[in-house]
Amino acid sequence: MSEEKRKARRKLKPATLVTQAGRTPFDHFGFVNPPIYRGSTVLFPTVAALEALRQPYTYGTKGTPTTRALEQGWSEIAGAADTVLTPSGLAAIGLALLTATHAGAHALIVDSAYQPTRIFCDALLARFGVKVDYYDPLIGGGIAAMMKPETTAVLVESPGSLSMEVQDIPAIAAAAHAHGACVIADNTWATPLLFPPHERGCDLVIEAGTKYLSGHADLLMGLVSANSEWAKRLRATFNAFSMGSGPDDAALALRGLRTMALRLREQERAALDVAQWLENRPEVSRVLHPGLATHPGHALWKRDFTGASGVFSVILKETSKKAVAAFVDGLELFGIGFSWGGYESLVLPFDCSSYRTATRWTPEGPTLRFSIGLEDVADLKSDLEAGLARLNGH
Ligand SMILES: *Cc1c(COP(=O)(O)O)cnc(C)c1O
Repeated sequence: MSEEKRKARRKLKPATLVTQAGRTPFDHFGFVNPPIYRGSTVLFPTVAALEALRQPYTYGTKGTPTTRALEQGWSEIAGAADTVLTPSGLAAIGLALLTATHAGAHALIVDSAYQPTRIFCDALLARFGVKVDYYDPLIGGGIAAMMKPETTAVLVESPGSLSMEVQDIPAIAAAAHAHGACVIADNTWATPLLFPPHERGCDLVIEAGTKYLSGHADLLMGLVSANSEWAKRLRATFNAFSMGSGPDDAALALRGLRTMALRLREQERAALDVAQWLENRPEVSRVLHPGLATHPGHALWKRDFTGASGVFSVILKETSKKAVAAFVDGLELFGIGFSWGGYESLVLPFDCSSYRTATRWTPEGPTLRFSIGLEDVADLKSDLEAGLARLNGH
């Protein structure tokens, strides 16, 4: 793409950009979408071409026109210099952490991180001589005091998984950069459409494409995007692993991308509506949704984000396990399961107090996470209302 075209593209609104990014129809006989290129071997026309290794594609593990379309499209949307695809969101987290650490290095991980991120750090990074400390999600610029001479990476995730704390990412990034450390962000909840991560100071950004990019609960994928400072190191680590995503999955993700802005907009509206409704129910103690004025992170969220996605948590008033099970088990429209971001609503009872190490999380009652899908909100509320009646019946 020419520099002029790139500049014009930057002025487009996100909803327009997701329909444009990563598409080059006239490279494919005018067909709107790139075809699925399945392949391992890529042929070279001559020995000289083989030795030069200069053609756009050299081997299947390094990418195909289908995977590159998604990489380039995502880079454009995220404001990144480069993007690589991985077979899952967790693989993307591992790849980013391995890009920014080495034996003897130290990493700071937010205490409210996605739990498998902690397992990756404690079980795997530690074995390779990387020391890890966890920090309070609300630490902000105070993180400077936790930096060691050997700190090379600071991982943020905002809002925190399950407990939904909003982090002051620009302040944390400024402190990390003053120290020369890489800022890694798990931006899965917001996606680049609601939080422009590289603009806010993040160097390596993870998206579990499994969630909102897929949007249909039919795909596992991770993406890591990098700014220009980290792009080369990310690509080198990616190539060393050769742990990419296949062309069929990339095509499915590209299909999801085209409606992502539309789905997010609707899921934001519906989730806020359901969250507000739940907040006014006598059975509910607190709703943890950064878009609600009652959320302690609301002001920071308003400053740094352009919107909210459809995932939030609820703390119920003290009640029995049986009553919670009666509420959740009988729901017709909410599935019980992991993951989120699909068209279908989900609910998940959780307890994230057991594995925290830097802070204590002591909710006053049972906790549930909701992912609001694309159903009609009135139906969702009726389903929840019947569920709360079952809860009260116990
Ligand atoms: C789901 C999730 C991941 C991991 O994605 P998978 O594709 O399921 O491995 C990473 N980070 C966050 C915040 C997630 O919610």
